[in-house]
Amino acid sequence: MYSLGPNMCLRRLLQSAQLQRAWRAVFVKHVQGRHQGAWRWTHSGGGTYRAVIFDMGGVLIPSPGRVAAEWEVQNHIPSGTILKALISGGENGPWMKFMRAEITTEEFLQKFGRLWSEISKTSVPVDSFFSLLTSERVAKQFPVMTEAITQIRAKGLQTAVLSNNFYLPNGKSFLPLDRKQFDVVVESCLEGVCKPDARMYKLCLERLGRQPSESIFLDDLGPNLKAAASLGIHTIKVHDPETAVKELETLLGFPLRMAVPNTRPVRKTMEIPKDSLEKYLKDLLGTQATGPLELLQFDHGQSNPTYYIRLAKHQLVLRKKPPGTLLPSAHAVEREFRIMKALANAGVPVPKVLDLCEDSRVIGTPFYLMEYCPGLIYKDPSLPGLEPSQRQAIYTAMNRVLCKIHSVDLKAAGLEDYGKHGDYIARQVQTWIKQYRASETSTIPPMERLIEWLPVHLPRQQQTTVVHGDFRLDNLLFHPETAEVLAVLDWELSTLGDPLADVASSCLAHYLPSSFPIQPGLRDSDLTELGIPTAEEYFRMYCLHMGIRPTENWNFYMAFSFFRIAAILQGVYKRSLTGHASSATAEQTGKLTEFMSNLAWDFAVKEGFRVFKEMPATKPLTRSHHTRARPQSLPRTPGMRSYVTSTDSSPAHVSKGALVFSPEGLSAPVRELYQRLKQFMERHVYPAEPELQHHQASAEKWTPSPLVEDLKEKAKAEGLWNLFLPVETDPEKKYGAGLTNVEYAHLCEVMGTSLYAPEIFNCSAPDTGNMELLVRYGTEEQKARWLIPLLEGKVRSCFAMTEPQVASSDATNIESSIREEDGFYVINGHKWWVSGILDPRCQLCVFMGKTDPHAPRHQQQSMLLVPMDTPGIKIIRPLTVYGLEDAPGGHGEVLFEQVCVPKENMVLGPGRGFEIAQGRLGPGRIHHCMRLIGYSERALALMKARAKSRMAFGKPLVEQGTVLADIAQSRVEIEQARLLVLKAAHVMDVAGNKAAALDIAMIKMVAPSMAYRVTDRAIQAFGAAGLSSDYPLAQFFTRARALRFADGPDEVHRAAVAKMELKRCS
Ligand SMILES: Cc1cc2nc3c(=O)[nH]c(=O)nc-3n(C[C@H](O)[C@H](O)[C@H](O)COP(=O)(O)OP(=O)(O)OC[C@H]3O[C@@H](n4cnc5c(N)ncnc54)[C@H](O)[C@@H]3O)c2cc1C
Repeated sequence: MYSLGPNMCLRRLLQSAQLQRAWRAVFVKHVQGRHQGAWRWTHSGGGTYRAVIFDMGGVLIPSPGRVAAEWEVQNHIPSGTILKALISGGENGPWMKFMRAEITTEEFLQKFGRLWSEISKTSVPVDSFFSLLTSERVAKQFPVMTEAITQIRAKGLQTAVLSNNFYLPNGKSFLPLDRKQFDVVVESCLEGVCKPDARMYKLCLERLGRQPSESIFLDDLGPNLKAAASLGIHTIKVHDPETAVKELETLLGFPLRMAVPNTRPVRKTMEIPKDSLEKYLKDLLGTQATGPLELLQFDHGQSNPTYYIRLAKHQLVLRKKPPGTLLPSAHAVEREFRIMKALANAGVPVPKVLDLCEDSRVIGTPFYLMEYCPGLIYKDPSLPGLEPSQRQAIYTAMNRVLCKIHSVDLKAAGLEDYGKHGDYIARQVQTWIKQYRASETSTIPPMERLIEWLPVHLPRQQQTTVVHGDFRLDNLLFHPETAEVLAVLDWELSTLGDPLADVASSCLAHYLPSSFPIQPGLRDSDLTELGIPTAEEYFRMYCLHMGIRPTENWNFYMAFSFFRIAAILQGVYKRSLTGHASSATAEQTGKLTEFMSNLAWDFAVKEGFRVFKEMPATKPLTRSHHTRARPQSLPRTPGMRSYVTSTDSSPAHVSKGALVFSPEGLSAPVRELYQRLKQFMERHVYPAEPELQHHQASAEKWTPSPLVEDLKEKAKAEGLWNLFLPVETDPEKKYGAGLTNVEYAHLCEVMGTSLYAPEIFNCSAPDTGNMELLVRYGTEEQKARWLIPLLEGKVRSCFAMTEPQVASSDATNIESSIREEDGFYVINGHKWWVSGILDPRCQLCVFMGKTDPHAPRHQQQSMLLVPMDTPGIKIIRPLTVYGLEDAPGGHGEVLFEQVCVPKENMVLGPGRGFEIAQGRLGPGRIHHCMRLIGYSERALALMKARAKSRMAFGKPLVEQGTVLADIAQSRVEIEQARLLVLKAAHVMDVAGNKAAALDIAMIKMVAPSMAYRVTDRAIQAFGAAGLSSDYPLAQFFTRARALRFADGPDEVHRAAVAKMELKRCS
């Protein structure tokens, strides 16, 4: 699952001392030129320090050297080229000039880019590197430095930053630091001088009003330190911030780290009345509790603020509700107190609780107290600095403690009434929907989809145990030396419920990126190398220990867990807007709701795919509505039709497919799929039609409708996606649902009842034909480039065969040329009726042209995959069908002029275009027929409803004999056509597309005209309204009419049928 990708290389690279040395060399060279003989290392110490001066890059924020190395690896740029470009020109090179503000950012990027390109012999995206270097993600102050600066200032010492920096394009200097932390800030770009020029240091000392001997300077670059030391300033070389802070602590003689890990001074908005609290504690703890009360705030506790208290010998933790108006049932500290007390008695490691104070007069809100439990909290789930075996042990301990929580005997622990029994997930889904709605600030599409999807995919069976509700690594306190969990923290969301929700919750970090702002994740880590179990392994470990079978719908639990986090983050965000958030980062975290909901939706989609992937490939035959056909290999009786139907039910025939002529005869899983499709149509597609139609007539018509995109996501999550790929093309169900043609015929008919439906299920022409072409004939590279995005519904495609200047019903007439030239194919031609080419998502054109006009008639043609952004493709105009443009795909008239395509874009090989066309258009064309049955059914249904309700000449239309006759005629014709469609599909299933040629030709001859007649009758019964866009009839009619050409003219199919029929008789 996790590969040894660029990240691993990156890590190794960053560890390499060579790189660090190389980076420093830039500056060494620079300094040597200017300060020869001026070195003097001094660490003489002594005296009292009054000021600490910090360099910025490499001391307070990550060094540019690291950023450059990371960027080079990610962009496949040879290592060290940035460095070379930077030193190039020395003192008068673009970099040094930029830092002295002698050139603008634009000039710098130009000159630097040129130098860099010369060195690397290729064009380099210098802007992208510069953006990364100055991005918020990278340029972030190290927390250990923030802590140290706070402590230094708390002791009355001064602080300064002395930085070689530059101006940003917005005219501000690059200083991603809180200036309030420093008494003095000296920036090279403002002063026009750079370190190690002595003037920089002197300026800084002057502004601080300090002597060199009273100051300490921290930098990661030797030359800068040497220059400072030569002035008599004490220096610390920074290799890594942690070690540097320790060294600084020694020099200053006081601690720079908070005595209590993960704490900080209490935030202004989170202050609590100390006097009142002190009095309360003294009463509680007895008279011996004297001395000043020390109060710090834990970084933890986004939701319920948590404080560290030291009073005399007592070390306590106080947890309280946040101030302000709270969402219903949230922040129940009373419950936390109760569960921790009960679990401690049941042997679960939790901090020892001491007291619950529900009187808001004491500190403003209810709170409870527990003993402070020293230990380690691992905030980074990749557990940096540990050995793989230690990491494995930590995750195993985490897993075990979860099992322990889930194994608590509710009755013995007195927790039977701690929550409701059963339906936990259903209730949780509703709770979080409600919480989300209460704090909603704007519409987030994936949240909306999840709100619909989750309630209809709830797990059927659930156990009831204690659930923690937010079980993750950084809510566990570990023994500092062993992998023992000393305490499970933060029980705010605990209740009785489905334990698997906790397991899923503890795997969230596995799917978050390492740079995730709230909490680093493991998504881009090599877990095997780290020794950390994958989410699947972690889940299996849990099941094994609990003695249960792994659940199938694990994806549901993950989707739910991410949804819940998204809803929580939205609450935090909403509170941050009203100024009551308990964390300074609340606003930032709230904005991550959308990110989390997208992750949740990915799991919903996975769950949808799991459902249809698990349908058996061979369909057990059930019920009475089917007959079976003999395969071609069986001996034929002379004069008989080749594929007679048979009612033989011997097992030998079972796997060969069945002519199921009504949906009731489908196998159980396909019947279920059919039902779900119908429900989806009722619930989502038909109601969306007015809006979709409105979009097609609006000014935005050439832009895909966002509603279609939304419905596509929903369909994916239901597993109603790529149903069209027949099992014989995709036997391993690698790309699609693996249905037989007969099975798909029933589903495709349902999709045909709405003109918008096929695209929503990724089952629309011409993409389906093109996808099947790629599955059958594409190389692995072609599949990766085109098939996968098409299957994902991310892009669309078109098919260009028809030409205005020749009768294109005879494809041998096609004149467009495909010429080989210098290892490329060059295309020239004039095409029209290219459906879908105007869609902005259309990225692929399957082009048919002649590679060899002198070859035998059916070997002159070839098919090429042409990327739509290839120069030379000119869309002349959109064509209309009865005045309709069919936006956003449309039908384009297109010129291909000197369009140059790599040779590997040829499908199958030159001269094989006809062969492919047969393969492509077999199943693809009968899909149209399947849909035409759907058009007709809907038209007849509308006609019946209208005829029953409309009165003319004193009675409903339905009592008019002509109307009755039309209804009867339509029913009969639909049934006839459907049987023929099913038969063609059936023969394709049992004997292949080639053998089904006659049946395919027959149905293509029959279906469009039948649909055309049925919709025409329906329109007639509707009166003028039938021609309007208030009903889909007019569009069905034009589509059916167009399909009498688009699928090849009727006459051509008729000629084909006659030819085959005549052959048969002879
Ligand atoms: C809505 C729509 C979408 C389309 N989409 C695409 C697309 O995406 N890509 C693409 O390449 N093309 C597309 N087409 C074009 C379609 O494939 C062609 O229109 C069709 O192949 C006929 O070619 P033609 O228009 O050149 O007619 P012609 O070949 O000129 O034929 C004209 C008429 O001649 C008669 N005729 C032809 N052959 C015979 C015969 N053997 N016996 C008796 N009479 C005959 C028929 O009446 C026929 O209608 C589309 C067409 C429509 C209407």
